[in-house]
Amino acid sequence: MILNVKNALKNPGEVFELECDVVFPEEDFQGTVKYNRAAHFSGSYASIGGNIELKGDVTASLRLVCSRCLEEFDKLVSCEVEECFSHDPTDDMLPISAADTVDVGECIHSSILMSLELLRICSPKCKGLCPVCGVNRNEVSCSCSQSKPKKDNPFEVLQGLLDNEEV
Ligand SMILES: [Zn+2]
Ligand SMILES: [Zn+2]
Repeated sequence: MILNVKNALKNPGEVFELECDVVFPEEDFQGTVKYNRAAHFSGSYASIGGNIELKGDVTASLRLVCSRCLEEFDKLVSCEVEECFSHDPTDDMLPISAADTVDVGECIHSSILMSLELLRICSPKCKGLCPVCGVNRNEVSCSCSQSKPKKDNPFEVLQGLLDNEEV
């Protein structure tokens, strides 16, 4: 979403309210994040020292992939957005274009991504995939977990050797 900040730049210190819905393309972000609908931003911006400071809160409904069972699930995310825009941006600022516009969507999206945990679990009770046969253990119960792999009994091995010698 492109925001024209010409008026704010002309009136330093004045606070402009901003309430908007930001639509993101429904494509995957690195295959792990999708937006179910437009993200909602509520906040304000002002021109401070020739830069634009944007502050507010954003809520978004995301479709994520569970780190344990690999199924998709929906998650409501809300986080703070705090961003500084400059005509002469440094590493921690975003640019103000020559036409005095800023890309609000970009900073909202990166704030949402940063608020996500690396491990995304569909439910605390998620049992994940069976490491042996690969079924989703939330849907199917396989017998792998019950039958533990037979531990090698050294005496059985010894018994086997003795048996072989007798042959
Ligand atoms: Zn899961
Ligand atoms: Zn299994």
